[in-house]
Amino acid sequence: MANPNVNERGYIYGKWHTGPNTWTIMLQGSPHFVYLLIGEEKAMLIDSFYGQGDLRAFVETITDKPVIVANTHGHFDHTGGNAFWEECWMSEASTKDCKNAFGEEMKKQMESMPFPDYKCRVIQDGEIIDLGGRKIKCIAIGAHHPGSMAYLDYNERQLFTGDELDAGQVLLSREKLPAHLANMEKLKTYAADFDIINPAHNGTHLLPDILDDFIELDKRVIAGTIEPLESVAGFGWSERGFGGMPNKSKRYNVGAAHIVVS
Ligand SMILES: [Zn+2]
Repeated sequence: MANPNVNERGYIYGKWHTGPNTWTIMLQGSPHFVYLLIGEEKAMLIDSFYGQGDLRAFVETITDKPVIVANTHGHFDHTGGNAFWEECWMSEASTKDCKNAFGEEMKKQMESMPFPDYKCRVIQDGEIIDLGGRKIKCIAIGAHHPGSMAYLDYNERQLFTGDELDAGQVLLSREKLPAHLANMEKLKTYAADFDIINPAHNGTHLLPDILDDFIELDKRVIAGTIEPLESVAGFGWSERGFGGMPNKSKRYNVGAAHIVVS
């Protein structure tokens, strides 16, 4: 039988170790990542891409432990693959849109998957997910999406931030800037517990001091003391935005932090 994880462009998923018991899984041709954390009893998959190929089969080539799928937020590029599993974990707000496919083609694909009506198990802010000898703290950081959840892995000292912090740009609406600032300050209070930050897009292994750049950037944009860059285009983002619509958003930058504000 043909491998469901190979298409005309080769392998859909690639993987590499980012910690003794952590794998980064990358989507073909895109700086887009999900993470597999393996404990003594269970594993945790942070996000699930769009649902291409058979992500579950791919994950099961890496671990035979039961897998908890936990989403950073409800956008479909993070939840589309959830339907390979019977149940997925996420914040209450993410349950509202996690099954909203990006267009008809992805909707059809989801309906053909094993569990399109998968159950949503709600995660609370501050909850600890115990994988057996490995504890993961859930930290609510909604701004880019109201239900965003960061995951803090105390064992391997890494933080997973979904779309709320990355090296390309964080997409935010202007009214969410104060929430984003508060969340960056909240993550800063855990600075003694992690050495690296793993986002969902645009590169992995960011250093914790990027939090300071985001804090400064959010403050300046809120205060109106910074000018936008000449172009909104940047890593993984263009003047055209999604769907070819003209992009009226503005890009701001301080140090290593970029935000695109609509
Ligand atoms: Zn998102």
